[in-house]
Amino acid sequence: MKFHVMTLFPEMIEQGLHTSILGRAMDAGIISLSTVNIRDYSEDKHRHVDDYPYGGGAGMVMAAEPIAKCYEDICAGGPKKRLIYLTPWGRVFNQDMAKELAKEEELVFLCGHYEGVDERVLSRYVTDPVSIGDYVLSGGELPAMVMIDAIARMVPGVLTNEESGETESFENNLLEYPQYTRPEVWRGEAVPEVLLSGHHANVDRWRTERSIDRTLMYRPELLAGAVLDKKAKKYYNEALAAQKRADDEASKNEK
Ligand code: SAM
Repeated sequence: MKFHVMTLFPEMIEQGLHTSILGRAMDAGIISLSTVNIRDYSEDKHRHVDDYPYGGGAGMVMAAEPIAKCYEDICAGGPKKRLIYLTPWGRVFNQDMAKELAKEEELVFLCGHYEGVDERVLSRYVTDPVSIGDYVLSGGELPAMVMIDAIARMVPGVLTNEESGETESFENNLLEYPQYTRPEVWRGEAVPEVLLSGHHANVDRWRTERSIDRTLMYRPELLAGAVLDKKAKKYYNEALAAQKRADDEASKNEK
């Protein structure tokens, strides 16, 4: 899979992504990354790519033409590629989106800066406006890196069997269970006994139940989409009832 990134800071993207699992996948030729400096498409002798906003107001706006030329160059000789514009007003990125985007052969990312980008080039070429969360960052580079990392992990061959994403958070709408490694006792605190038992069915059951506990505690809205077997569903209903009793008790004590 090939990732193209249109940016004013190509070195930021290169340095951020050529490490660890993604670096290894690039070396193996499973994914590739190409950064393009939008400034190279400026028609201005000072290489400006921004201008004042029509209608007044604070800040500068990235002009349409350098971005259009940059994107057209990336697509030259082939069909238009899916173009993701990183923006706080886009659809919020999640694991399902990462999986869906990982099916593409190529993706182009547009990193904004300043107050944003001239709407005319966005409406002409952008297929997916995407946000990484409800906060405002200074530029689209970090969001692009976040998305590329999450998408690349879903590309077959990027994760080894040991790193498999199958048991990670958001699989089956559950958060991941707690993890432990050596030593068996750390500062007086022992690893849960079931994990030392070697009894795989019990370990699996314990992990499912801890995933349910954690999801109920931090992201209860996810559980509506989780597929649970009979035992897990029973555990969930009991945990939900216990949580409700605790909430009722707490609000009674507040009064
Ligand atoms: N004026 C814009 C607004 O209110 O929506 C914010 C511009 S922001 C300072 C500059 C650039 O950072 C944006 O064009 C976008 O590319 C990127 N950016 C900022 N926050 C982001 C977020 N939560 N998700 C994705 N991209 C973001």
